[in-house]
Amino acid sequence: MSYDAKLKSLGEFGLIDRIARCVTNGAGVALGIGDDAAAVACSTGNLSLITTDMLVEGVHFDLSLCDGFSLGKKSLSVNLSDIAAMGGTPRHFLLSMAIPPSSNLALLDDVIRGMMQRATEFGVNLIGGDTCSSPDRLVLSLTVLGEQLPEKIVRRSGAVPGDNVCVTGTVGDSALGLQLLKKGERDGFLISRHLDPTPRVREGRALADEGIPSAMIDLSDGLLADLQHILDSSSAGARLRLADIPLSPHFLARFPAMDNEARAMALSGGEDYELLFTVPHSRMPGLYSLMREVGTPFAVIGSVTETKGLSVVDNEGNELPLRKKGFDHFSEP
Ligand code: ADP
Ligand code: MG
Repeated sequence: MSYDAKLKSLGEFGLIDRIARCVTNGAGVALGIGDDAAAVACSTGNLSLITTDMLVEGVHFDLSLCDGFSLGKKSLSVNLSDIAAMGGTPRHFLLSMAIPPSSNLALLDDVIRGMMQRATEFGVNLIGGDTCSSPDRLVLSLTVLGEQLPEKIVRRSGAVPGDNVCVTGTVGDSALGLQLLKKGERDGFLISRHLDPTPRVREGRALADEGIPSAMIDLSDGLLADLQHILDSSSAGARLRLADIPLSPHFLARFPAMDNEARAMALSGGEDYELLFTVPHSRMPGLYSLMREVGTPFAVIGSVTETKGLSVVDNEGNELPLRKKGFDHFSEP
C-alpha cells in the first residue's frame, strides 16, 4: 500500500506547514513551529511540568471504532490529564506523528482539527513536533509542558494513614463505553466518556492552589491500579467502601444488579481520566467548599491505612476478593 496522492504531493514539509497554519502562537511562545527547537517562557518562580503519552493504533485506539476528530482530541486530553494530576496549568505541547500509508490526508486533517479544538479550549499552544513514516500503524506521541509553583505541585507520594481517599466524577463509564462501542453502539453518554474524556485541569489546579490533596493521580489504568500507584509511592495501604464508589446513572442503568462484571468495571476499568486524591481530615471543610465553588462532584470513597495493601469492603463489611487490578501493557489479558 502506498500513501494517498494528496499526502504524497504535500510531502513531509507540506504536512508540517499545513499543521503550522492551524496554529497561532499564544502567550509565552517566543519561538513556535519552524525552527530547530521551540523557545517558551515560564512564569516567574514556577517549575516546568513535562509529560508525554504515546497512542499507538491497535493498542490505544482502533480507527474502526473512533473517528480522527475524537482521536485528536483524546490524544491531547490524556496528556492534559497528567498535568492536571500534578496540580499544574498546561501551557504548550509538542506533537510527534509516525504515519502509515493507510492514514490518508483527510484522517490527519481530522486528527489535527480535534486536537486543535481541545488545545483552544484549554489555552495550550502547539509549539513543535516531529513527523515521519510508519510501516503500518499510526502513532501519535504528545508532550505537554505545564507549570506550577514548586510548593504547590502535588505528587503521588504524600498520602498519610488516616487521609480520606477522594475521586472526582464517576468511574467505570469509559470501560463500559468501550465495551458498547465494540458491540456496535455509536453514541450516548458512555461512548462519549470513552471517546472524549474531559481532563480535570481546572479541578486539579484549584485543589493544588488551595493545598488540599496530600497526593494525587489521574485515572488512566483503573481505580485500583492507580490508587495502588499512590500507595506504593506513599508506602501505605487503603480501605475502600464499595457503596461509596461513584457511578453514573448511565452506568447503573446498564447494571441494575451490581454484579461481578459491574464491580470489575468500576474498580478496574481504565481511561476515566478523573482525579483520585487523598486529603487529610483537617482539610475536608476546605475541600467541600472549594468543590462547591468549582462545581464538580466528588466522592469520599475510603481511607488510607498504615497496613499496606488495598481492600474493598461491601455494605456488610465483607472484603471483596480482588484479582485483576488494572491495565498493564506487558501482562497477559
Ligand atoms: P528537524 O529536522 O530539525 O528535527 P523537522 O523537519 O523535524 O526539523 O521539523 C521542522 C519544524 O516543524 C520544527 O519546528 C518541528 O518542531 C516542527 N514539526 C515537525 N513535525 C511537527 C508536527 N507533527 N507538529 C507540529 N510541529 C512539527
Ligand atoms: Mg525533527
